[in-house]
Amino acid sequence: MTDVADTVTLPPIHSTSAAAALEADAVSAWFGDHKVLDRVSLAMPAREVTALIGPSGCGKSTFLRILNRMHELIGSASLAGRVLLDGEDIYDRGRRITHARREIGMVFQKPNPFPAMSLYDNVLAGLKLNGIKATRDGRDDLVEECLTKAGLWKEVKDRLRQPGGALSGGQQQRLCIARSLAVRPRVLLMDEPCSALDPTSTRRVEETIAELKSEITIVIVTHNMQQAARVSDSCAFFLAEQGTPGVIVEHGATEDMFGSPQDSRTADYVNGRFG
Ligand code: ADP
Ligand code: MG
Repeated sequence: MTDVADTVTLPPIHSTSAAAALEADAVSAWFGDHKVLDRVSLAMPAREVTALIGPSGCGKSTFLRILNRMHELIGSASLAGRVLLDGEDIYDRGRRITHARREIGMVFQKPNPFPAMSLYDNVLAGLKLNGIKATRDGRDDLVEECLTKAGLWKEVKDRLRQPGGALSGGQQQRLCIARSLAVRPRVLLMDEPCSALDPTSTRRVEETIAELKSEITIVIVTHNMQQAARVSDSCAFFLAEQGTPGVIVEHGATEDMFGSPQDSRTADYVNGRFG
């Protein structure tokens, strides 16, 4: 692990060029010989929130993990297709897996801060893992900036040395968002980030998403249709029917997906008739 030393090498989080478009092109996925996604293509425009919806088991989490090269960490897993970050395939030979992970951050369902580590060090944890260097002042500024963006600064600024595990679940999730932001990702993937949270915490995370999307591309899996309607610009409806691999049945502007879906299965799902 690289020691944190003396230079700030990070671009400003505000720079408008930071957010990147992400595009999946004919992505298929397998666990062993079980095919779970079949040629899924989806454009996820920069500075927009794309929601992935659909019943359990249709491949949403697998798709999300393919978007930042986490799928390949699973022993039996394989995939086909391309994932383009501003037009460049993150799976091109010669592209490093760590590069994709840094550019495309992930927040999980269950908040996973380092429980014994201070809030301050939790925010910076990704820097060390990525070998990014920052000065003492740079680190202080970055901690404040990321906690502010994650909507947590005011609540914790006087207790940054307390352990991550001392926070409530909703605060822990915002801490995890702050930690993701610290390495300046261009895309943030969120896999049901609110499903373990109470309604108030859920609101706070949704507000955070709304504020972040001007500078980062967000892809969120959610089972909460109200949440999808509130936070997303566009939605993709995944479905795996009767043992077939998951596909996108329909994709479009969120208001159309909820207001005038083209496919009857989309209409049934968004209106809560199954799943
Ligand atoms: P979703 O997130 O939509 O609920 P998943 O992507 O988790 O769906 O799962 C899609 C399919 O892949 C399911 O059939 C699931 O059982 C299978 N699957 C997911 N993870 C693994 C794994 N690690 N090993 C084997 N099969 C898996
Ligand atoms: Mg899932």
